[in-house]
Amino acid sequence: MHSIASHWLNYIDGEWVDSPQHLVVNNPGTAEPLATVARAGVADAERALLAARRCADSGALSRVRPAQRVSWLLRIASEIRDLANEGAWVLCQENGKSLADARDEFTEAARYFEYYAGMADKIEGTSIPLGDGYMDFTVYDPIGVSAQIVPWNFPVSICARSLAPALAAGNAVVIKSPELSPLGMCVLIRAIANAGLPNGAVNLICGLGRETGAHLVSSAKVDQIVFTGSVATGQSILRAAAEHAIPCVMELGGKSAAIVFADADREQLLASVKGGIFFNAGQVCSAMSRLLVQRDIYEEIVSDVVALAEGLSVGLGQDNPDLTPVISAGQLAGIETLCRRAADEGAVAATGGEAFSDRSGHFMRPTVFRDVSPEMSIAQQEVFGPVLTVIPFDTEEEAIAIANGTDFGLVAGVFTQNINRAMRCSRRLKAGQVFVNEWYAGGIETPFGGVGLSGYGREKGQEALYSYVRTKNVAIRVAGE
Ligand code: NAD
Repeated sequence: MHSIASHWLNYIDGEWVDSPQHLVVNNPGTAEPLATVARAGVADAERALLAARRCADSGALSRVRPAQRVSWLLRIASEIRDLANEGAWVLCQENGKSLADARDEFTEAARYFEYYAGMADKIEGTSIPLGDGYMDFTVYDPIGVSAQIVPWNFPVSICARSLAPALAAGNAVVIKSPELSPLGMCVLIRAIANAGLPNGAVNLICGLGRETGAHLVSSAKVDQIVFTGSVATGQSILRAAAEHAIPCVMELGGKSAAIVFADADREQLLASVKGGIFFNAGQVCSAMSRLLVQRDIYEEIVSDVVALAEGLSVGLGQDNPDLTPVISAGQLAGIETLCRRAADEGAVAATGGEAFSDRSGHFMRPTVFRDVSPEMSIAQQEVFGPVLTVIPFDTEEEAIAIANGTDFGLVAGVFTQNINRAMRCSRRLKAGQVFVNEWYAGGIETPFGGVGLSGYGREKGQEALYSYVRTKNVAIRVAGE
């Protein structure tokens, strides 16, 4: 167990800086205040942008030999591993998530830096044959200043997910941490501050989204925006980005479906349901929030998932239970509202449906809705809590239509022993990633992102690196050939 500093700072131009105003960070497990963080205002955002601009324009990151960026990224990864235990404790306390999952976030963050370190000296262009008299090639230039806005559900790993490829490609970055869970990211940035990058390469500000965040995304000093968060905020950021016609990566919400055929392996399925909807209290953009079950096995599966939900251990993150609190009182109230609406529309809560009334933190009962039809709001809207809807289907055709029948398209899953069916479904599912027989089967190596209201652009994997560069073609007329 570590003690937690009572006050935390922003990191701008290579220095930790305070601000006259503070934000209070609460512990979701106890609903008690945990610490304060300097609340960056518009002036702090401007300083961070200027520092990043100076760093990008000086070429301190982009004009060095790429092997230098490889060493910086590897050094960052090693510093993260050194701070992981302390960081995990901080993240667990401020976020409510289990200590083991918080530890995994730091490990994953280190992996992002190792992975993109491996690419930093391999961003190779191509030579394009144009016949005699010409030499033509492409180069990948960094974009410049990347503004990265991070949500509270996996702040450390999501921050690393965008920061590592941005640095690998030679960009300077200004990051805005989420108001509700900014402290673990401060530990992550401490690891980066220890790694000896040029000043201004990485800046962290914590402020209100509508103030500091909005300022960042509308600034002419920004060349690219990476946003992970809700659809409504993403849409407002896209409108701001349109003003300067800058590229964006948008990782938004989801209402992802798993299709379960009668031949599915039950053990694999139940392990996937447990991780898919109850991990991180369901506050996962790619959560398995809809379970589409072939009618022959519908009753059996409902009773299996109800037993699973009712058997989950519940408690404070530090004790590593199956189910942890949700992030805030507001989030809990929103989840309960959606559950009440589901009941009003005729869905039946086979278990749960409301908060735990006997706990002081923000604990939602693990919930399973049955008798859900695809058009109900509980089957269409993102809940972002431990709430599963179970929907019956008869044919493969019908299952695909239900799975594809929302405005989202982040991930999807198929559970079957029939490889042909799995292949057919994975081709037809409207999603950026399809899991077969294991939810979250991918990794940091596999491209991730959405279609529809789930956003666009890809993070993770080699493909993500190309979101952080601009292609330039050089076409040369060679005389005398
Ligand atoms: P949110 O949109 O409320 O906030 C996300 C971030 O945006 C925060 O840092 C916030 O301060 C900032 N922000 C708010 N208003 C802003 C504005 N006008 N301009 C600039 N920045 C602003 O989302 P949240 O509640 O923190 O996160 C939950 C949502 O994020 C869910 O919808 C979830 O699905 C989504 N999410 C998506 C992914 C993904 O990879 N696709 C991952 C995690 C979360």
